[in-house]
Amino acid sequence: MQKIEHIGIAVKNLQESNSLFEKLLGRSHYKTEKVASEHVETSFFRTGQSKIELLQATHPDSAIAKYIEKYGEGVHHVAFAVTDIYAEMERLRKEGFRILNETPKKGADNKLVCFVHPKSANGVLVELCQEISD
Ligand code: ZN
Repeated sequence: MQKIEHIGIAVKNLQESNSLFEKLLGRSHYKTEKVASEHVETSFFRTGQSKIELLQATHPDSAIAKYIEKYGEGVHHVAFAVTDIYAEMERLRKEGFRILNETPKKGADNKLVCFVHPKSANGVLVELCQEISD
């Protein structure tokens, strides 16, 4: 795995959190994007080599809605950049990690993504993401 690509933060109100993080980071978000399949709207900030991803649920069935119901707002996942997501998934499976996706799926910000179950990673929901080259 390479650098921390981004940290995902679950928020209740994307607009309010955009303002908050703009003040915190001293810069504006550079994009917002809806991921229909995940029922979330996201917003991205650059922080050096990494990013902050704010996630707001767009549907009560969204994993983000459930997360906030259970834990409140806060750090939801840590995403690592990988160059070969299939190889990395295979490697982690062999190491005994529970991968939440059979195959990688299309995530926000032009990425192929998959998740490692927090129960197999000390309570941390880990995302692997690979840039989709076009
Ligand atoms: Zn993410």
